[in-house]
Amino acid sequence: MTAQTRNVPEIELNNGVGIPQFGFGVFQIPPEDTAAAVCTALETGYRHLDTAQLYDNEQGVGDGIRQSGVPREEVFVTTKLANDAHGHDNAITALEGSLQRLGLEQVDLYLIHWPLPHQDRYVPTWQGFEELLHAGKTRAIGVSNFQTAHLERLAEESATVPAVNQIELHPALQQTELRAYHRAHGIATEAWSPLAQGEVLEDPVLTELAAKHGKTAAQVVLRWHLQLGNIVFPKSKTPERIRENIDVFDFELSGDDLEAIGKLDADHRTGFDPDTFRG
Ligand code: NAD
Repeated sequence: MTAQTRNVPEIELNNGVGIPQFGFGVFQIPPEDTAAAVCTALETGYRHLDTAQLYDNEQGVGDGIRQSGVPREEVFVTTKLANDAHGHDNAITALEGSLQRLGLEQVDLYLIHWPLPHQDRYVPTWQGFEELLHAGKTRAIGVSNFQTAHLERLAEESATVPAVNQIELHPALQQTELRAYHRAHGIATEAWSPLAQGEVLEDPVLTELAAKHGKTAAQVVLRWHLQLGNIVFPKSKTPERIRENIDVFDFELSGDDLEAIGKLDADHRTGFDPDTFRG
């Protein structure tokens, strides 16, 4: 089955670039397994890959694209700046390294991975990102793990609104206020750890909805993200789950279903707090 027959919707970013709303994340996939996992994902119909300098597997992502035979221009590729590379010049040099490892001339989206407020360098870093955008090294620029205060500072001190903010977001951490800020300012919401790394999948609300729709709890959670308008890229190394996760375009959650999942919000992070994380 191809991406076309799966009907993965595209979201238009604030600079007009289209991003497939559903993709494949490669965090914690070992470098030596990455090309095979990416190949399986592309063969299954995924057309959006999310990696990072920190994941140490950009080379496997590039190899996987080439091995799959899928044309480069059909795949949306995101990478992220390493935490030790903040600063205007470092940000520019770091993307050159990513492009070499990926074997690509341009990425589709480049993100500041963490704001690291204690370093107080995300504004000059962002100015480097703006130059990379204008130089065509990336088709869009965005941020990750930015809180409202960090986004407000960028708005005051730079000319470019981030195309996306990639944040931890799942039924146990629904980020209602930050999502509202994104909506008001034309920033697309990307949800990392969309399945809370599997932590939420035993919840009886989700297992009951799964039984009702003849789907798995993971599929119900991914469908919830899509209906909220989030961009998602669940990670799995297992071909069966890679196929299961993208098989979410043939059912719809009702208003009541969405409301029931809405009640699971527990303000529970599985990852670091962006205000205090020091890289
Ligand atoms: P995830 O929520 O996608 O969970 C992945 C884990 O859930 C897998 O390791 C597996 O154990 C389990 N799983 C996957 N599919 C399943 C299924 N169908 N049934 C049951 N269990 C299943 O978590 P993640 O990998 O942390 O997040 C996804 C992507 O988000 C990453 O690969 C990465 O690209 C991105 N990410 C970004 C940041 C950031 O700081 N920007 C942080 C973490 C992750």
